[in-house]
Amino acid sequence: MEKRKVIIVGSGPAGYTAALYTSRANLAPLVIEGHEPGGQLTTTTDVDNFPGFPEGIMGPELMANMKKQAARFDTEFLTTHVTSVDLSKRPFHVKCENGNEYLAESLIISTGASAKYLGLENEKELIGKGVSACATCDGFFYRDRVVHVVGGGDTAMEEATFLTKFASKVYVVHRRDELRASKPMQERAFANEKIEFVWDSAVTEIIADPTGVTAIKVENLKTGEITERKTDGLFMGIGHKPNTDFLDGQIKLDDHGFIITEGRYPDTNIPGVFACGDVQDSYYRQAISAAGSGCQAAIRAERFLEENE
Ligand code: NDP
Repeated sequence: MEKRKVIIVGSGPAGYTAALYTSRANLAPLVIEGHEPGGQLTTTTDVDNFPGFPEGIMGPELMANMKKQAARFDTEFLTTHVTSVDLSKRPFHVKCENGNEYLAESLIISTGASAKYLGLENEKELIGKGVSACATCDGFFYRDRVVHVVGGGDTAMEEATFLTKFASKVYVVHRRDELRASKPMQERAFANEKIEFVWDSAVTEIIADPTGVTAIKVENLKTGEITERKTDGLFMGIGHKPNTDFLDGQIKLDDHGFIITEGRYPDTNIPGVFACGDVQDSYYRQAISAAGSGCQAAIRAERFLEENE
């Protein structure tokens, strides 16, 4: 079975940056990209908050550039999923969906997290046309518009508060009459005059015309009454699912399923396994912070290999 010094699982900004650093350290990394190489950014349009691009850059182009840069230094890419890993001893055993199997002296996990959606019929086709799961990415497009945010946790409060910088009104639709968000986040949202809460309610339908979202239907879960509410945007703030199923419980996760890393280092509970990007970050979740953590994971993997040769 082929043995590699470093295998990187996942291919967003974290994975590609880890590839860039480990390839430049002569570790000839293998990146197992998943079925959507480039990750979440490949489904966005303009990225205006990644430094180095004064005019902004399209998400797919940014990811293609990152991949090209890592490829320049002897990175190998494989477009398949990792189905399982055996982390009980080193080298670690990695099995892929396409039948390939590898041994890895170190492993960098950068499989990201997927935003949760409500499961409404047209929500996915309206992404970029009024439906979003990232206020930081898309809030700018809602200047003086009315938007709705779904959810009652920290993500929803953060999205709603951020959106008030642009939107004229932000409604938070929550399925209960009590928030799950932390007290400071709740207080910040309650104190914001632009935010109004729609309690005990669920979004049941998104109404759109060819230009995008125009309204939503909202059901009051206590009375069963359904009302139509005009809106220019619908932001999903109902959490993220970190992509960790393939780890099958071998790596320690927090209560929300994010990989726990050791303080300021990207080390997991298993020596030689490092995590970077959104799979271990429920707080920042930005392309630039993911890329930065990819660099850290690569440097830790390099030092780990030196120390354990
Ligand atoms: P949470 O799981 O904490 O909250 C999800 C919210 O969405 C809940 O209010 C839940 O309702 C609601 N919800 C879930 N599914 C549905 C659904 N299908 N329909 C309608 N509503 C739904 O996720 P978060 O992403 O908010 O937070 C995850 C972790 O990340 C937390 O630890 C949080 O503290 C942290 N975080 C921290 C931030 C910060 O400190 N700046 C920012 C963002 C996240 P219900 O309450 O009824 O279950």
